[in-house]
Amino acid sequence: MVVAQGRGDRSPTGEAMFPVRCFTCGKVIGQYWEEYQQRIREEPPGKVLDDLEIERYCCRRMFLTHKEVFGELVD
Ligand SMILES: [Zn+2]
Repeated sequence: MVVAQGRGDRSPTGEAMFPVRCFTCGKVIGQYWEEYQQRIREEPPGKVLDDLEIERYCCRRMFLTHKEVFGELVD
């Protein structure tokens, strides 16, 4: 059973969206996802998160694990 947990994390297209807030501390992080995604193409994810002032590990984990979900498939 697929049920969104009342957070409205799904986009109109039905894709899994990056959460607006960190599940652990509630910090609003959703607005950083797009920039993060673009910058990690050329920079280490840890550095990008530092620049975006994502300092808590719980928040950093949201970014790092979300990337894994999308899975940059290696051909
Ligand atoms: Zn957090």
